[in-house]
Amino acid sequence: MSSRRKALKTLSALPLVGGLMGPSLLSANTGESAVSKLACPVSGPLARDFFKELGIRTFINAAGTYTSMTGSLMQKEVTDAINYGATEYVNLDELHDKVGERIAELLECEYATVSSGCFGAMTIGLAGIMCGMDTKKVAQLPDTTGIKSEVIVQEAHAIGYTHALINTGAKIVSVKTTKDLEKAINKNTAMLWYLNANTEMGDIKWEEFVALGKKHNIPTFIDCAADVPPVENLFKYTKMGFDLVAFSGGKGIRGPQSAGLLLGKRKYIEAARLHTPPRGTTIARGMKVNKEEVLGMLVALEMYLGKDHDKEWELWENQIKLISDSAKSVKGVETEIHVPPYANHVPSLKIRWDESVVKISKDDMRKELRNGHPSIETVGGKEEVGITTWMMEPGQERIVASRVKEVLENA
Ligand SMILES: *Cc1c(COP(=O)(O)O)cnc(C)c1O
Repeated sequence: MSSRRKALKTLSALPLVGGLMGPSLLSANTGESAVSKLACPVSGPLARDFFKELGIRTFINAAGTYTSMTGSLMQKEVTDAINYGATEYVNLDELHDKVGERIAELLECEYATVSSGCFGAMTIGLAGIMCGMDTKKVAQLPDTTGIKSEVIVQEAHAIGYTHALINTGAKIVSVKTTKDLEKAINKNTAMLWYLNANTEMGDIKWEEFVALGKKHNIPTFIDCAADVPPVENLFKYTKMGFDLVAFSGGKGIRGPQSAGLLLGKRKYIEAARLHTPPRGTTIARGMKVNKEEVLGMLVALEMYLGKDHDKEWELWENQIKLISDSAKSVKGVETEIHVPPYANHVPSLKIRWDESVVKISKDDMRKELRNGHPSIETVGGKEEVGITTWMMEPGQERIVASRVKEVLENA
């Protein structure tokens, strides 16, 4: 098929295009350039409404950074970087090398790499610790014969995300107290893993955990997936002495949803990279981060570091107060504004009511909000409807405030 005909065929397959484009673009360009123009119509008059075409519901995210709700929205600077990345070939390792150095400089740590989410960072980070620079061992995983493969975790920290660790072939050893932990250490212990989100529930806190690692010469790794804000956390735990620190890229930092950051000791991160593409016969071959997302992650981080965090916090507080006041204006409704101390540390709202006065269950309230126009996603259980505003676009808080009130009033 000639490129001209291919172009026309492509054009006719695209809805909207005919009407919006008219004949001028077609006649003024060769088929080839018409195709290249159409290949990435991210914005402007050629943009397609893909979700509408596919019949997919979009919604106001009053819930938070949930993978099921596709995390966060990237800012234009980030999608610009992604689009830029799509225009040239580069050497993947060179890109990772340079971006790793740049991120390390920004976050004042020894080294860094862009990973496939926080989960991917955990897998490759542990794999790096287990195998070092030994490529034979790298190829051997998840068979851990002859490789240290026990990871000690506090019982209260041993939630489902430890699956990222056992992906390497490692085993989780769960302990409660400092005494237990020291007793559990043996010649097969590879790493100590800490889940920042569950800090309050564990016996052993950060500094002591790090000190135990140093005392027994075992590397420590902290999962900080959902721990920005505050921005300081991006610096705090590497400086505290954790050997490796992992963050999600697509939560508070608002980078690509499938990207993440692995920060810390150069020797472990260089070893972690041995498990990742372009290298093939490794456990993390499927945890590829494409060049577009590597750039997007870097730019999202730069944007995040550069923003006025106090001003943003104030905005969130005002938004939450607006929704709270609106909900509370309905008789029988109570609200509570709170900030979780670890993970998703942002102003958050709980809305509760006496169901004998306001005759709707919490589940049905969430359903009403979801099924309304525009659709609004919230969280919570049997006792409350939970709302955050940090993943909303500015102005949407007013829609949420009035819908919440409307549904409660009509109940
Ligand atoms: C979200 C999350 C992860 C997974 O992070 P991804 O970036 O989605 O891979 C791991 N640990 C915790 C505590 C999380 O909240």
